[in-house]
Amino acid sequence: MIIVKKTLLKNLNIINPCNEPAFIENAFVAIGGESIESVGKDKPSGSFDVVHDLHDKIALPGMINAHHHLYSALAVGMPLPKGNPTNFTEILQEVWWKMDLALDRDSTQACFESGLLDSLKAGTTTVIDHHCSPSFIEGSLTLLAESAEKFGMNSSVAFEITDRNGPEKFEASLQENIAAVQKYGDNPYVHPLIGLHASFTLSDDSLHKIRQSVEPLKSWGIHIHVSEDKADEEDAIKKGYASVLKRLEKFDLLNENAMIIHGLHISEADLSLLKKYKLQFVHNPSSNANNRVGMAPNINLDQLRSGLGTDGMQGNMLREGKEGMLIRSSHLSGGAESANYLQLLFENNPAIASKLFNKKLGKILPEYQADLAIFDYHPRTPITESTIFGHIFFGLSSLPSEVMTRGVFSIRDYQLQNISEKEIKANAALQAARLWSHLS
Ligand SMILES: [Zn+2]
Repeated sequence: MIIVKKTLLKNLNIINPCNEPAFIENAFVAIGGESIESVGKDKPSGSFDVVHDLHDKIALPGMINAHHHLYSALAVGMPLPKGNPTNFTEILQEVWWKMDLALDRDSTQACFESGLLDSLKAGTTTVIDHHCSPSFIEGSLTLLAESAEKFGMNSSVAFEITDRNGPEKFEASLQENIAAVQKYGDNPYVHPLIGLHASFTLSDDSLHKIRQSVEPLKSWGIHIHVSEDKADEEDAIKKGYASVLKRLEKFDLLNENAMIIHGLHISEADLSLLKKYKLQFVHNPSSNANNRVGMAPNINLDQLRSGLGTDGMQGNMLREGKEGMLIRSSHLSGGAESANYLQLLFENNPAIASKLFNKKLGKILPEYQADLAIFDYHPRTPITESTIFGHIFFGLSSLPSEVMTRGVFSIRDYQLQNISEKEIKANAALQAARLWSHLS
């Protein structure tokens, strides 16, 4: 007989954005094993193995990063290129493609560990990653999945296939994705996808080869940057297609498991295509602003029920949501409609992750995985159903004091449990210095 550990959280104020009710004061959360059993104001009956008093703290659901690049974790403060990149393609060539090529096993591991740590400390418990380390391909996705497992986090793994590093690395990247799908296809905590860098770095032959190679797999979906910059669309047109998405459709690479990232310059016909295939669409505002590529139109975010990702810029989803909102506001005139970043983060991201991982993620409700971000936040203004937007994006400025993953505290009183944060950071600093020395 399997004995399920029963945990009770008490004296907790629950915020479930985009839900009815969105706020429950002084609530109890009953957890059986890894899942939430009940949430409410009345003490649940039965006995509990552990009872945690949260002393009037505020809980949000563990958050989901719908598009991340953990491999860029050591880029914070990295030396800038000597020349000043003048467009998106030059930014890729001068910064990111030099850095990803310099990553080896040790620096990649430091990226994973320190990037996951950064995410978890901000209350992000699920990371949908798009990985690239062309000098360390074989085994990289296993390393990522195992690193996430150490933190008790959910991870979606994919390796960016591209032509830009030659046919051998193309083939090795393709095989790394396929091996991950075979290895993790049934794993409840790891969701493998077939990573494609972008249409403009893949030839027709390569797209054909990828499609043929995934054919024998039971289930598969691609994870790809689409129309992040106009150059991607121009390349597809030059190759003889109406758009990037039309090109992917032509090679039969679109299905309902796919993750389509960015989509700044997609047409109305592309919008219909995305809806037809029920594709997952993800918006990454701070990265788009940083790369000066423009802004995904409101209509794309609304109609495609867009998720929110950070594209490697950060692990903190509350910050990404706030920055996204402010970046959009800076482009709008008075009274113009914005996008609902609360919905992207707390409604659309949970829907995307729940579909990918085939279990309920991203809400504090019965049957959902017990992933929570708990804040020691005692605001100066009232919290009610109608004021939570302001508290989430303008009030919660500190990190959560507790983070729970799968019914267990991974962080308690700001301290990472069972893993040394100090060691991870010391190693990351060493690896960053080594990595940067290859770039200057
Ligand atoms: Zn990206």
